[in-house]
Amino acid sequence: MAVPTSARYVVIGAGIHGLSTAWHLASSLAAQGRFDAGDVVVVDKNGVGAGASGIACGVVRNNYFQPAMRELMAHSVSVWESDPKAFCYNPVGYMQIAPPVMADDVSKIYEEQKAIGYESVLVEGEDDCRSYMQAMFSDWQAGNIAVVLHEKRGGYANNVGSLRGLEAKARAAGVKIYTGTAVKSFAMDGNAVKAVETEAGTIACEQVVIAAGPWVRHFWQMLGLPDTVEVKGRDGNVYERPMWTYWCLQEGTVEVPPDFFLTDAGEMPPVLHVDTDAPLYDDSDGSLVTDALWGIYYKPDLYFGGVQGGAMPYVVDRPLDEVAVDPYGPASPDFVVGDEFARMWTSGLAHCHKRFEGKRASFKKEASGGLGCFTPDSFPVFDVFAENAYVIADSNHGYKMIGVGALVAKEVLGQDQALLEPFRFSRYAEGRLHPVSHSPYPWS
Ligand SMILES: Cc1cc2nc3c(=O)[nH]c(=O)nc-3n(C[C@H](O)[C@H](O)[C@H](O)COP(=O)(O)OP(=O)(O)OC[C@H]3O[C@@H](n4cnc5c(N)ncnc54)[C@H](O)[C@@H]3O)c2cc1C
Repeated sequence: MAVPTSARYVVIGAGIHGLSTAWHLASSLAAQGRFDAGDVVVVDKNGVGAGASGIACGVVRNNYFQPAMRELMAHSVSVWESDPKAFCYNPVGYMQIAPPVMADDVSKIYEEQKAIGYESVLVEGEDDCRSYMQAMFSDWQAGNIAVVLHEKRGGYANNVGSLRGLEAKARAAGVKIYTGTAVKSFAMDGNAVKAVETEAGTIACEQVVIAAGPWVRHFWQMLGLPDTVEVKGRDGNVYERPMWTYWCLQEGTVEVPPDFFLTDAGEMPPVLHVDTDAPLYDDSDGSLVTDALWGIYYKPDLYFGGVQGGAMPYVVDRPLDEVAVDPYGPASPDFVVGDEFARMWTSGLAHCHKRFEGKRASFKKEASGGLGCFTPDSFPVFDVFAENAYVIADSNHGYKMIGVGALVAKEVLGQDQALLEPFRFSRYAEGRLHPVSHSPYPWS
């Protein structure tokens, strides 16, 4: 499809961030009486939801050890709650279930959630945690759990459904979306982007928003930015670090009937996230899977056709140029889960609930999982480069961040947002790093 020769704002990527930003840009301009047809354009080389947003597990939570992440998530949860139907959002809540080594971290999260008015319940001590879990699921059997944080807000949304909802809102606000339109390069005017060069033509623009998910490094290169960055560590020394690291996200589904995983009261359970250092044994043959800290998350999900979830991701240990982001997601020959994941995850489910014992054979045999592109500290970078190129690099935290586009739109229109301030690129040089938790995940 031919693209326009100019647009004030060109948004690259029709995932959660690109669509949310475009929608909010167009509606904010309209509210100010400054919107003209064609002002906001989205281009995507494939289609809506062709990237990470379209395969995300869809978990929406507040549970983060980093205060700045929590405040940002609380804002995004309000956006999810603003139109659950359009966003296919299920507000079932979320639970972090954790071992002694994480107890202090989780209690701190609870205290800080109280301070920002984010409703949650904290249960402490092994006996009380077991009772709390067994009141919900009588077959709960995981031991060595020292703390349960039950967030009453949050839950999960359907990946493709929510993007369709966002797309509809963006189109209704006057956004033009061009799919099958790959961006090849930028035309520069001094240090600023003056046009976006696509396979379907060149679009002159005033500002560009790059919301390219796992492809962010390609755009970083187009902007002439380096693959390494200097990070001032907590010890005051400066370290050269890779700007980008690819991780492979591991997820899958156990095919079980819709009522297989309800609470004892017959209700949809919250999304469960269990971390533990209890040894994990293979549910089929009793062999040791791991005696290191491990974690799984899971939820009954009608869209996926069973109980869906995942486990810790792993770093893709290859030179960056040898990591093929395309074909993406289930189409990738490399970055989909295999038997090892199925063994670990289904054994983890059986470790937690008796009802999952012997369910390995029901693990859905389809390609799942996919790549994420992480920043040096595994937290997002939201910042402007090359004078007028706004980069949304969410470090794979981002499906739940549906509200970031609203904040980015405000910044693009000239209003700095305090919630985004902790995520500036300059934090690396200045050593303004986010605190690090004891979680086995790079994103908690
Ligand atoms: C398996 C998996 C599960 C996940 N689960 C969760 C979860 O439960 N909760 C959560 O919060 N997050 C989750 N995430 C992370 C989340 O999906 C991402 O952080 C988020 O979707 C990124 O959104 P985005 O809009 O930046 O990018 P994307 O959704 O990846 O969109 C980027 C778009 O850019 C387009 N594009 C790329 N290159 C070009 C080009 N040259 N020209 C034009 N267009 C281009 C792509 O086609 C794509 O559509 C998960 C990620 C994975 C991989």
